[in-house]
Amino acid sequence: MKTLHGIPASNGIAVGPVFHLRRTQVQVKAGTIDDPAAEWARLEAARAAARAEIEALVTRATQVGESEAAIFEAHRMFLDDPALLDAVHARIEEKRQNAEAAWNAAIENYAATLETLDDPIFRTRAADLRDVGGRVLRRLAGVAESAAAPTIPSVIVAAELTPSDTVQLDRALVLAFCTAGGGPTSHAAILARALGCPAVVGLGPALEDLAAGTTVIVDGTTGLVVADPDPATLASALERQTADRAVRAQALAWASAPAITRDGHRIEVVANLGAAAEVETALAQGAEGVGLLRTEFLFLDRQTPPDEDEQVEAYRAILTALNPPGLTGAEREPAIQRPLIIRTLDIGGDKPVPYLDLGQEMNPFLGVRGLRLGLAHPDLLKTQLRAILRAGVAGRVLVMFPMVTTVAEVRAAKALLAEAQAELDAAGLPHRLDGVGIMVEVPGAALLADQLAAEVDFFSLGTNDLTQYTLAADRTNSGVAALADALHPAVLRLIERTAAAAHAAGGWCGVCGELAGDPVAVPILVGLGVDELSMAPAAIPQAKEIIRGLSFSEARDLARRALNLASADEVRALMGR
Ligand code: PEP
Ligand code: MG
Repeated sequence: MKTLHGIPASNGIAVGPVFHLRRTQVQVKAGTIDDPAAEWARLEAARAAARAEIEALVTRATQVGESEAAIFEAHRMFLDDPALLDAVHARIEEKRQNAEAAWNAAIENYAATLETLDDPIFRTRAADLRDVGGRVLRRLAGVAESAAAPTIPSVIVAAELTPSDTVQLDRALVLAFCTAGGGPTSHAAILARALGCPAVVGLGPALEDLAAGTTVIVDGTTGLVVADPDPATLASALERQTADRAVRAQALAWASAPAITRDGHRIEVVANLGAAAEVETALAQGAEGVGLLRTEFLFLDRQTPPDEDEQVEAYRAILTALNPPGLTGAEREPAIQRPLIIRTLDIGGDKPVPYLDLGQEMNPFLGVRGLRLGLAHPDLLKTQLRAILRAGVAGRVLVMFPMVTTVAEVRAAKALLAEAQAELDAAGLPHRLDGVGIMVEVPGAALLADQLAAEVDFFSLGTNDLTQYTLAADRTNSGVAALADALHPAVLRLIERTAAAAHAAGGWCGVCGELAGDPVAVPILVGLGVDELSMAPAAIPQAKEIIRGLSFSEARDLARRALNLASADEVRALMGR
């Protein structure tokens, strides 16, 4: 029996045989050539074949979610990147390198540059670029596309998982994901949460030494992976798995019922979405609306920003999916339709956006991101606000500004909103908005919540960022993952203060960070006075079930006790974890 410790990335317990997912490595046969035109033609043919493969993957990935498909859209852009192609062309023409050597060198140079930027987002891009590079090289070498796939339900083990690896797996044969590298925001982690299967990442190189077929227990809640368990450990894991499945099945059966505590206190449970295609799954899991629409999916991986009409279309499509036409009469009144909270663009110096000159920042998380960026590019933000206002006619839309730090920023954003409204009036275009809110994800904003509450209708706590800023622990750095625990009493105190300030001003307060869907945190958040929880759709059924089992007054006592503890570990101990 051998135990490996990793970072928990997706809840649940799985037991099954190890399957190593290893991609075929192509040996690059470097050589010199006499006929550059023929070599270029070989490369063009390989790129065309790779493009066809990527297009097939876009179609496949769309079935998982649009954010998955967007990854392959980015691959297509890399494949046609003019700077990359110029570099390859020069190598073939001037250095007389063969197509594989020229292509490989150009890809490696480009990827290495992205990596030196020492930013997790760019590192992910470097991995994507190599994924595309390998695809073309395989075509040039005439090597088959991919590694073997599992034939029986298995625990998928890999150094890292690329999007191309995961999208080609048969979901029915995936029990869990385990990776040697990666952090909680890695691709494997995101995919596992979307699929609702357990995952542990950052398990280290020892993971890859496990023999294929070895039985492993994967605990996605604690981050422990036990290989070759002894009979007692295996029996206890299977017992916990059965209990866990029973709880999930029960929760799913009741997913569409409201989440009301035993003493009659209702909590609104809504979904975090990154794309329109995810609405259907969210509704099936019992989402009562959308508490956070991350609009970045419309803006990244393209050469020009989406115009107003394209955005109106996209938001309307989500509203329609959220309130399908079958609803009649009073149910169609905007006031009782399922709400859609649209967050304005939340990008910054850590994400490449070709059409914005973002420049490089030493500390992008402390730089021009979120609303700061929107106010620095008022045309971009105003276009989005106009689109949100126009889409609002079709349902119940609320707007939310990210990464707010000061009252002045909120006033400036509201002034831009008023301008957008006046412009639409002048142009005779109908518009409507059901509320204005801000994300509270900077400690300064939480501390000044009483002042900010006077400006808006609601708050939504972005606990992912609030935790990284409160505890000074980069959310993408696995070295400080243990420190960046949102259950730390310092974070909980900011949540309590923010919810109280919203209520004192007659508003309401939600949570849309990952903490909202953490089963350990739900009772505490309810006790801290939060009114709404917005989470990944797969987490909704269990969160609702937990709320139904609570008494609000007991949850309040629990939260009070948690606030007076000294560490996240003590809070977990209080919750019996
Ligand atoms: C957060 O910071 O908690 C949040 C919900 O926003 P994002 O994760 O998109 O930064
Ligand atoms: Mg955030």
